[in-house]
Amino acid sequence: MTTLFVFVIGIAIGSFLNVLIDRLPKGEAITGRSHCDYCRKKILWYDLIPVFSFLILHGKTRCCNKKLSFQYPLVEIITGISFTFIIVIPNEVRNLATEGGVKLFDYALLDPSGIALRMTMLGIVSCLIIIFFSDLRYHLISDYILLALFIFSLPAVALAKEGPLLSILFNSLASGLIVALPIFLLYYLSRERAMGLGDVYLSAIIGFILGWKSGYIALYIAFVTGAIYGISLLLLKNRKLKSRIAFGPFLVIGLVTMLFWADKIYGLIDMIYKY
Ligand SMILES: [Zn+2]
Repeated sequence: MTTLFVFVIGIAIGSFLNVLIDRLPKGEAITGRSHCDYCRKKILWYDLIPVFSFLILHGKTRCCNKKLSFQYPLVEIITGISFTFIIVIPNEVRNLATEGGVKLFDYALLDPSGIALRMTMLGIVSCLIIIFFSDLRYHLISDYILLALFIFSLPAVALAKEGPLLSILFNSLASGLIVALPIFLLYYLSRERAMGLGDVYLSAIIGFILGWKSGYIALYIAFVTGAIYGISLLLLKNRKLKSRIAFGPFLVIGLVTMLFWADKIYGLIDMIYKY
């Protein structure tokens, strides 16, 4: 029952994330009624019900019968699953990668620190979903969302890592700079062709949250998944060699992997080294 409730709340939040994904890159106000992307007509409330409206309308707009992006139900379902995962799923499957190996969910669900940590994780994951889809679709990462992500990561880092607050903050900031350095060089040397400034900031936040070691593994995962995606696009001949692929979504994949499955990745690395 709790699971279903959290899932439904997650889906509703996902619906709001869709609004941010579409409006922030265009610089539109985030309040105000939704209107059709094609004919600008206002969308009625019963066509804005997450997932259901998409299914009932067969993925088309009611006003002008144009194709609705699959992004809408996808973001809603992903948000629903992420929220359920963070709040309901047992502790063993999740941990925050830190050099000290401090578990993210060592705090019990109803412990005040446990509640605070889960709330900040919901904030972090929501920001990451926005970054993933708006960079994928519009090739833009909003500065507001990067700032929100950084603000959410402050309590997460303070709660999940051990030691005096000042040294945690110093180590995390240093890790952020270390992890952002190669991305900054790619950005600078390619004159913004390989990377955007948003990618530099995002990788700094990745280092801040994960520490430099896990941060570099997250970068590595981003490059590998990005390369696999790029090569499969070429093989499918969907794109010309020159067209740009946004890097932000792959940075998000790297961060999420290390945020939730760092012990599995370190286990894998150990296994590879043994052979
Ligand atoms: Zn329309």
